[in-house]
Amino acid sequence: MEIFHISAECYPMAKVGGLADVVGALPKYQNKAGHQVRVVVPCYDTKFKKENEFECVHWGEIKLGSFDFPFSVLKEKTDKLGYELYLIEIKELFDRPNVYGYEDDIERFLSFQIAALDWISARATVPDIINCHDHHTGVIPFLIKYAYKYDKIKNVKTVITIHNGLYQGWFGFDKLHYLPEFDLIHVGFLEWNNAINSLAVGIKCAHAVTTVSPSYLNEINYSANGLEELFKTVRSKSQGILNGIDIEIWDPSTDKMLYENYTTKTSGPGKQKNKEKICEQFDLDPAKPLFSFIGRLFEEKGGDLLPQASALALSENFENINILILGSGNAEIESQLTQLRNDYSGNYNVFIGYNEELAHLIYAGSDFILMPSRVEPCGLNQMYALRYGTVPIVRRTGGLRDTVIDFGDDGNGICHDQASVGDICYSINRAVKLYDDKVNFNKIIERGMTTDHSWERVCEEYIKIYNLIIQQNEV
Ligand code: ADP
Repeated sequence: MEIFHISAECYPMAKVGGLADVVGALPKYQNKAGHQVRVVVPCYDTKFKKENEFECVHWGEIKLGSFDFPFSVLKEKTDKLGYELYLIEIKELFDRPNVYGYEDDIERFLSFQIAALDWISARATVPDIINCHDHHTGVIPFLIKYAYKYDKIKNVKTVITIHNGLYQGWFGFDKLHYLPEFDLIHVGFLEWNNAINSLAVGIKCAHAVTTVSPSYLNEINYSANGLEELFKTVRSKSQGILNGIDIEIWDPSTDKMLYENYTTKTSGPGKQKNKEKICEQFDLDPAKPLFSFIGRLFEEKGGDLLPQASALALSENFENINILILGSGNAEIESQLTQLRNDYSGNYNVFIGYNEELAHLIYAGSDFILMPSRVEPCGLNQMYALRYGTVPIVRRTGGLRDTVIDFGDDGNGICHDQASVGDICYSINRAVKLYDDKVNFNKIIERGMTTDHSWERVCEEYIKIYNLIIQQNEV
């Protein structure tokens, strides 16, 4: 089967969060399973782009209203990622360091989608499946079906995978003329609440909708930032598939970003060495349990609860714990977390920013990872933590509910129900007691490290959906 994944992120070319990890791994395992898989992302000015070689395989020009943008399609020369990686180069729009956050993001991602389809429809072969990811690629299923210029690929089956339904890519009908020409009878597919909503377009027009965990699929029926009713109507073509993790990249026995590698058998001393390294770097005490947080500092991640929860937990357990935070996001949260350093130096520290190497070291050297998320479509951190022998402390929501079971129920972590300072601190207190009960603690660590979250099994579920929609006849 020939499969295209089209996405705004793909690790290691461009990563902001879990979307990149998934699009960087799922295609590799689909390829290994015998399919021809190609990944298409915008050509940002990233380290990976600068350090690797590409060849131009196509070029053209797209129209976005009255703007003309020349574009090229660049292929990574070696296929070393385990799939073919293609970059859509539109210099004016993407030759910038960041993935998102620009005023013209709507123009950027519409141009990306149009250029990608121009190229795919100009190729000699027609793919079997186009798997879109999140709202940045949500207009593709509509364009394939209805834009005149994509007539050649109009029967290609499409899937939209929802990694985060909070972000939807809204824009006004004043920008309708950006889209390639189509029969206006179909304009209703674009509309949601009087605007064009890219994610809703994808959900309406794709042949199948997947979410990144089964629990998240249930939750979006009553909490989806305005799309609840739409999700209910497409339930029959929707499926929740729990993400896997790339166990070749995330392997504590080979991970080059660690200070000391270790296996399940050697996790005690191995983790301690990594912990000592982090504690030295951040002025913490390696004899105490280390609680860490890694992620985007926003309300959806419970980032706003972290300053108060950290202060309370530290004042209650001042002699007993260390807390370390790695993340960036909301400026107010960043500043509150930075200020806490003054009150709790020696037991608390924070690194504001994005640092892949440090994240790996923290997964390895921490005892507990905090995930007090309000919304967590899947969450990868808890799965990385489990594999690295770090016990996750999570709020039961979305994929966290599907992957972490409280140790009181013979599980692999610590769970609480409310996104509140009180619940977080209660869980930290339970963790401190667990840390002292070494026999039980080690049993839970081993249970986590031996859980199979690999992509092999998950990848099959995607293929089953692809086969199902390929066999379906269009009504
Ligand atoms: P989301 O995609 O919602 O941000 P996920 O849990 O799905 O959350 O994925 C987060 C990914 O991003 C993980 O690989 C995590 O290690 C990484 N990550 C998040 N913030 C940082 C950071 N500040 N530095 C390094 N890695 C980070």
